[in-house]
Amino acid sequence: MNRKYRKTIIAGNWKMNMLPSQVKPFADELKAVSPRAKWCETVICAPFVDLPAAIKAFKELRISVGAENLNENEKGAYTGEVAANMLVDLGVKYVIIGHSERRQYYGETDFSVNKKVHAALEAGLQPIVCVGESLEEREMGITLERINLQVKAALSGVSAEKMRRVVIAYEPIWAIGTGKTATTEQAEEVCKLVRDTVRVIYNDETAEALRVQYGGSVNAGNAAELFAQPDIDGGLVGGASLKAEFGVVATA
Ligand code: PEP
Repeated sequence: MNRKYRKTIIAGNWKMNMLPSQVKPFADELKAVSPRAKWCETVICAPFVDLPAAIKAFKELRISVGAENLNENEKGAYTGEVAANMLVDLGVKYVIIGHSERRQYYGETDFSVNKKVHAALEAGLQPIVCVGESLEEREMGITLERINLQVKAALSGVSAEKMRRVVIAYEPIWAIGTGKTATTEQAEEVCKLVRDTVRVIYNDETAEALRVQYGGSVNAGNAAELFAQPDIDGGLVGGASLKAEFGVVATA
């Protein structure tokens, strides 16, 4: 099996941006820029309060909707939290797990990421699991070890069958929101390492079916070259997903 059997997946991450009332006008803008490319799966991951409006507005554009986080518990006394089955009930398909901003600001660890991955899969969601090294780790030359560990920890106990629903996003922390993109060689090297790690844990079939995204200052100008790499199956896009430019990235 090779690249052509994996459907490219471009996911936007709105972070804490976009009012619910701005979702429909944004969808209209996107529609005007680019009708969806058939070979590409497009996802918008939005704040919880935007999800109902997003599901409604993006249906016609055949853009799937994802959340940016979830709680690892099924239900109960967790004030302010949102469970996986609540997202499913709403019509949400994807969920970002372990974004570096959550690891950095909200104390998420490889351990909690693994619990969230299980919760998402159990409920029927497709997790987009984020891994990435800091600038210090890259400069120390331990990028590949760091990513290998993050991937192994995130997937601990996940069956090969459930792996079919997992997407892994390689996002070097130093490239997120900084305008600094990893070179295509750097991005390909780590995305290949992610696939090879999955090959060692599971098997060739699971590794070749896995979709690996690159994220970190992806925009309309650099997307095509990055997505043309053999082990890069699309992107996780922050800043550019808030502009109509996202329509260009999604058809790069
Ligand atoms: C992100 O939020 O996952 C991201 C990659 O952001 P940006 O594209 O703005 O660097």
